[in-house]
Amino acid sequence: MIVAWQVLIGNVAAVSLLISVWMHLHYRLYRLSEVQAKIAFGLMMGLGAIVSMALSVEIDSGYYVDLRSTLLAVSAVYGGPLAILVTGMLTAAYRISMGGAGLQPGLISIAVVSLLGTSMHFLFRRQPMNFKRIAASAFTVASVSVAMSLAYRGNGSPITALGFIVMGFVATLVAASVITYFHAFTVERDILRAALTQAPDLYYVKDRKSRFLVANLNVARNHGRTKSSDMAGLTDFDLYPSEMAQAFFDREQEIMSTGDPMVDFEEPYVVEDGRKRWFLTSKVPLRDRYGNLIGLAGVTRDITEEKRLIQEAVESKNVLSQAMAEMSDGLAMFNPDGKLVFCNDQYRAAFPRSGYARKPGAHISDIVRAVVRNAERIDVSPDVSEEWIQASAAQLFLTRDTEIPLFDGRWLSLRTRLASDGSALVVVSDITSMKHSEEQLKQLAQKMTGLAYTDALTGIANRRVFDEVILTEFARARRNSSPLSLLLIDIDHFKSFNDTYGHLEGDKCLKAIGDILRSVVTRPSDLAARFGGEEFAIVLPGTDRDGALNLAGVLRSTLNQLAIPHSASSKSIVTTSIGVANMSDGSTFASVADLVRAADQALYGAKTKGRDCIAAAGEQATAA
Ligand code: GH3
Ligand code: MG
Ligand code: MG
Repeated sequence: MIVAWQVLIGNVAAVSLLISVWMHLHYRLYRLSEVQAKIAFGLMMGLGAIVSMALSVEIDSGYYVDLRSTLLAVSAVYGGPLAILVTGMLTAAYRISMGGAGLQPGLISIAVVSLLGTSMHFLFRRQPMNFKRIAASAFTVASVSVAMSLAYRGNGSPITALGFIVMGFVATLVAASVITYFHAFTVERDILRAALTQAPDLYYVKDRKSRFLVANLNVARNHGRTKSSDMAGLTDFDLYPSEMAQAFFDREQEIMSTGDPMVDFEEPYVVEDGRKRWFLTSKVPLRDRYGNLIGLAGVTRDITEEKRLIQEAVESKNVLSQAMAEMSDGLAMFNPDGKLVFCNDQYRAAFPRSGYARKPGAHISDIVRAVVRNAERIDVSPDVSEEWIQASAAQLFLTRDTEIPLFDGRWLSLRTRLASDGSALVVVSDITSMKHSEEQLKQLAQKMTGLAYTDALTGIANRRVFDEVILTEFARARRNSSPLSLLLIDIDHFKSFNDTYGHLEGDKCLKAIGDILRSVVTRPSDLAARFGGEEFAIVLPGTDRDGALNLAGVLRSTLNQLAIPHSASSKSIVTTSIGVANMSDGSTFASVADLVRAADQALYGAKTKGRDCIAAAGEQATAA
């Protein structure tokens, strides 16, 4: 029995050795696909089971004790169905070749342990293996396999059975622990390898002589190589023109001799296709555990795109500031808090009295306060309240156009626009000359309107106005049954006046009579107009016949007093004949034309009466 235990311990040693060999092999065989790796693992564990069976102890005729269950369990739990299929088949085949009375229970035990292991594989698939799980599986496998062989043989001593359970348990525990440990180690290494090779930047480690020890895939690709291992042993002299390589080499040697890292070093260089690219490099010296410098680790990033963007930003900023400096308008931008972010010189210069307050960082309310305090705007009193200042400042954030008059006679236009981020953009333009021409235009327009309604020679209303007024007043008088009087005035012997004194003197005379008309017509509703040629008309709403005759008398006497010489007239002065038509209670006319005709007839009467006369319609003319 002692020999049997020794053999079994040798068995444990052989299995351990095999597992350890697999771990090292596995490390080397990392290029295998997942399926290939599982098959390889199954093969290795099957081989282990065969070795173990070859070293088994025959405890009864045809019954063998060995560690095949351990290997089956490890294969199933770690390798899954594919691995256990391979291991199980190898184990079963070898067991068949051994033959003996225990063949059938042996094969059944192989199948049971394989199934048990596979179910544990699926049970633990989503959880990391820990000692508790390993121990549980080891114990289950060991006790099941021993229980089964005892069940078939039926006569083992309990001490021996316990011994076998302990041995199987320990062997499985050790094998599983070793595999779990190496598995974790492999995962960690794979992550590091993936991180290094797949990282977007260039990572590399160089030795004391600046030779590449390790480089990631990007470094290799950058130098036209397909595998990162192709970089090992190369130096910059193999990769760059000698001058450039020398510069790199010198800098790296300096880092390693001084121990000072080089951080974020920007360097441009021309790549193979002739384009210039920018790189950002950091290199740090590497030391071994005793503090000796053993090389350097470097990381280089292609920053060409960033460089280009920065360059573009700088250029567009330059263009913008040049445009702002040379534009004729003032430009200012306020942030959403109301603080001046930037402005050009024109903006400041547009406000001579508050320019000092318009500097970046200043708040709009302080700027408004400076405008008020220095009486810069003539439309704003210097003693407005603080509320007014605040309200005025708040208007900065309204999209609007305003025009403001300044103390120096200038006018400014302020156009405010809001940007999507809430900041306000203000454009200030000097609109003084525009304002002046606007004023001139306004005056001209007023004059033009006046011209349309006044008689150019005499300055009183023209015929057009007369026609409109007489029409409205006639309608009003009829509607209200109120009185309305009309005077038609004609200069006597005016033709001979012109003939005697000339046309220019004639015009002067017409003007003088126009002035007299203006002076005698005093009520706002009365209208004196030039009727045409040397004839005038006066419309007197609300005036009855007596009032009208009275006014005609005043007119006549005023003209007589003026005494404009008229040698060709029998009176020796300019006189007029006046026809009066009147509409009051009782007497009315069917139309305006009838009224005018009546006045005209009266005038004719005055003429025939001997001129310098006043005649009312339907009456004898009266002379003064
Ligand atoms: P009567 O006493 O009958 O009114 O005689 P009269 O000469 O005034 O009448 P007539 O109708 O024959 O002549 C009117 C004159 O008025 C003719 C024209 O030369 C003159 N006249 C009309 N309009 C103007 C004007 O704008 N300027 C001048 N200077 N003369 C004018
Ligand atoms: Mg006439
Ligand atoms: Mg006349």
